Order: sequence, then structure tokens, then C-alpha cells
Amino acid sequence: MGPKQNRYRTGNQSLVREINLSAIMNRMHKHAPVSRSALAEMTGLNKTTVSSLVQELIDHQFVREIGFDTAGTGRPARLLEFNPEAGCIISAEIIDTGFISVICANFTNNIIWRTKETFDHKSNPQTAIRRLFTLLHQAVDATRTVYGPVLGLAVGVPGLVDHKSDTLLFAPNLNWENVPLGVLLREEFGRLVFVDNEANLAALGEYYFGAAKECNNALYISGSVGIGGGIIHGGQLVTGATGFAGELGHMTIDPHGELCSCGSRGCWETLVSQSAIFNRIQQAIDRQQPTILSKKGNGNSDQLTVSALSKAARAGDKLVLTVLEETACYLGIGIASLVNVLNPELVVLGGIHCSLGEFMLPTIKQELKHRALRWSAKATRVVLAQQGSDACVMGGLARVYQAILAQPGAVTN
Ligand SMILES: [Zn+2]
Repeated sequence: MGPKQNRYRTGNQSLVREINLSAIMNRMHKHAPVSRSALAEMTGLNKTTVSSLVQELIDHQFVREIGFDTAGTGRPARLLEFNPEAGCIISAEIIDTGFISVICANFTNNIIWRTKETFDHKSNPQTAIRRLFTLLHQAVDATRTVYGPVLGLAVGVPGLVDHKSDTLLFAPNLNWENVPLGVLLREEFGRLVFVDNEANLAALGEYYFGAAKECNNALYISGSVGIGGGIIHGGQLVTGATGFAGELGHMTIDPHGELCSCGSRGCWETLVSQSAIFNRIQQAIDRQQPTILSKKGNGNSDQLTVSALSKAARAGDKLVLTVLEETACYLGIGIASLVNVLNPELVVLGGIHCSLGEFMLPTIKQELKHRALRWSAKATRVVLAQQGSDACVMGGLARVYQAILAQPGAVTN
């Protein structure tokens, strides 16, 4: 919302109040510490309105006064900032490799508590959700006495989410279907709750806190057991008609290729996911190709890990470097098509593609240059994610924070 629009908006008083509160919260998020008169200038609201709204935010303990701005020539103005003890935001990720990650942040987005625990990803969803709830309760118990009540909660999942009901419709690598996660979370925690695809949240995480900061048109690629994606357009996450946008992993690259977990053949993820990389390495080991990996894992692909691959690549292991180059080639082919379609200014490689990115970036960039329209390729940078394995939980934090900034009344009333 442009600041000037506020002046002309008429009608529902409480809606106007909510919009104005949101305008102040958003400016504070970007510019704090800031004075009331600076807020008036930035929002286009008059000083009396700003003072009364700021008082409301102080009464709800979202905002606090700190010191004076002595830079000007007039009377020093009181500076305002968000109160870190206004409340907590909890964000979790269910990871299809068998981990649940939970963070809790204070109201100034500093992480004050975190844990990452295993769960049996071959078990039924009920068991995993019980584990998730135990960890969420631990986060609440560990933080509420110091940092205030839980204001909202987000959970990232490796699958398709129906945004109307917050139901996890399908998580191919967990083999879960129709899990009403949003309903269960609300029953248990009764607060502002968001459930979203992990790659969508990770894209938000990189947009708010990482590599895509200040970048309004970005594409995030999340590499794991599968491949997911999140598209940021005009500073907003693109959801598509029913919330499923960004399922990049299931673009067909080879119509006669391997069977994918989605039921189709030759999807991008069958060529560039963690399993695809591990399989290529395993096949090369089976062909007796020399590598420092086979000594360690006795040639068993179950023993392969991304960090072992990274170490081997760094040590100059020819087999690993060749497999990563082949993978980078397929990554570049997919990225070139996506760049032609979306014309992003930034492509962010997350997950395993970030961990192994330093060995793949040159080939990816080369493929992009050769295959995308040269004007689009020129406008796009390809970079590695900055939030690493935290991207999704940081995005969950951003999602809740964004909702509070847009509608402070939802948690104050
Ligand atoms: Zn597929």
C-alpha cells in the first residue's frame, strides 16, 4: 500500500485503523529505531494519528521507546523500536530425510531457541505429528516466560498443501496423503497458524533474511530427496490458482526417463535430486571406477552423504567431480527453461545444491548462457542460498511476521 492511498481510503473505521497500524509496523520493520515524526513523514499520516496508533502499539507491548534522536537541530525526538519481548514466533520444518527442525524467535527475529531431532519418516503421519507437537511444546515452554506469548506458528512440509484448509495433500517422499495438519495445529495451539510447502517458505526465508533480500523477482530451487521451488514475484510468493505453483521438480526433461515419485517419467528431480546424484555415484562405483568414497563406504550408496561428497570433491576426486558436472548440466538445462519463462533477476540454489554448489556453479552458468534467451540469461544471476538448511524455518518465521505486520489487530484484539 502506497502511503498516499491511506489519506483517501474511506469507510470502515476499524479497517482504516488496521491499515494504518500495518503501515506503521512495516515502516518500523524497515527503519527502526525511528521517531514518531519520521513515521508520519514515511506513512503520509498526520502526527496526531501516528502518536495515537504508536501509543496503541506501546500498550500492546509491540513497540517500546528507546533514547532520543539528537541528530536534528530541534528538540530531541523519542526513538521507537520493536520490543523483543512482545512475543515469540515458532517455526518448524518436517524434512523428508527424517528430521524435524524447530526454531523459536523473539519479536525482533532473533532465534532464542532451536532444536533438530530425528523422526521415523517411514512411520505413519500420526506418529510424526505427535513428535512435532512434543517439540513445539518444548519451544513454547522454554521461551514464554522471558519472551512473552506465542504470537504465531508456521510449519513447512515436503509436499503439496491445500491453502484453504492447510491440509498436506501429498508428500511423495514420505508417502503421506491428506494430512489435516492446519486443523490439528490449531486444535493443539490455537494461534495464528500457517502450513506451507517447504520450498515456498525457504524462498521467503531467502527473500527476508538471505541471498534474495531486496530482490523482488527471484526463483528459489530447493534440492533434497526431491526438488521443490518457490517463486518470488513483486516481493510476493507466487501461489498459482490453487497454491501449488513452484513444483519445479516435476517438469519433464526426459519423456522416456526414470519413473518419478509423482508417477510420471523423466521429471527434473529424477536427474538432479540427492537420490539421482547418489545413484550416479553408486553406478560408477559398481563399474569399479576409482573414488575415495568407495574405500569409506565399501561401495554402499546407503553410506553416501552430501558432506562426504563435498569433501571428496574438494580433495579433487575425479568420479565425484564428473558426477557433479553431469548433474550441473541437467540443473542448467532446467534453469535455462525457467529463466526463459520467469525472467527472474536471481536464481538461488538451496538445499544440497547449495552444499555442493561451488562445484556445480560454473557448469550451471555455462548451460544457462548457452540455452536461455541471451537477454534473459544476461539479466539473471545464479547464487547459492545464505540461510542453508535454515531457509525453510526462517521463511516460516517471515510468514508469521508478515501476517502480524499486515494485520496487527489479529494478535492484539
Ligand atoms: Zn515427478
